[in-house]
Amino acid sequence: MSSRTVVVTGGAAGIGRGAVERFVAAGDRVVALDRDATALGDLEADLGELVTGRAIDVADRAALAAIATEVGSVDALVCAAGVQRYGTVVDTSWNVYDEVMAVNVGGVFFACQAFVPKLPRGGSVVVVASVQAYAAQKSVAAYSMGKGALLSLVRAMAVDHADDGIRVNAVCPGSVDTPMLRTSAAQFGGGRSTDDVVAEWGRSHPLGRVANPGEVAEVIYFLSSPAASFMTGADVKVDGGLTAG
Ligand code: NAD
Repeated sequence: MSSRTVVVTGGAAGIGRGAVERFVAAGDRVVALDRDATALGDLEADLGELVTGRAIDVADRAALAAIATEVGSVDALVCAAGVQRYGTVVDTSWNVYDEVMAVNVGGVFFACQAFVPKLPRGGSVVVVASVQAYAAQKSVAAYSMGKGALLSLVRAMAVDHADDGIRVNAVCPGSVDTPMLRTSAAQFGGGRSTDDVVAEWGRSHPLGRVANPGEVAEVIYFLSSPAASFMTGADVKVDGGLTAG
């Protein structure tokens, strides 16, 4: 496959960074969009000239539209930026609700609005949703709702853009060892070490561990590539069997 240009939101850390590394390993150029300018600088320093970082908040739809104009033609879009917030419907504050919707849902919707018109026939979008779209855990009401909305968006876009030759798919990871997961482990660990909490959460997956970002990135890369040429509107679980039971 010839070198492509790929935009990855949330590309400075975690699953997004794993995806950036996978595309770069294949010789693709990557534009990483992330609100963490420092981490973007580290990413560029670590991965070299194939990576360009742009500091942007995906909740800012005008900024997404502007950056898409600047970047020009793109072969694939990966939407990985997201935040994890906890709460039932009853104890989720309005501010937390607004943040989760603006980043996790709006950030994907408006990234697609900005970049899908830049995609050629054969282009693709991969959205990072979550097994939480299937409500696999308590006290993540807004987050689960947002991830479920992403699966609906992926199916709607798959139908809308099939005639344009653009495929749109989702990955639904279980627990993945990223800064997001470790922040949650520290928050809910009750004084235990983060490693112990992550290991315990791993045991809730039939494969007995959490994923590493590269294992999700490999599926993102596959879905974005011509190897997945008859896949669109799919949501692929990368969850170590968590939702199999
Ligand atoms: P992470 O926090 O480790 O990394 C997320 C990256 O996105 C960071 O670099 C962060 O700066 C960036 N980001 C966050 N909000 C942003 C915003 N408003 N604008 C621009 N950049 C922003 O998270 P992760 O674990 O790698 O998660 C990536 C995606 O995968 C998220 O959508 C998350 O919901 C999803 N996910 C994660 C897990 C997990 O266990 N880690 C499981 C299922 C799904």
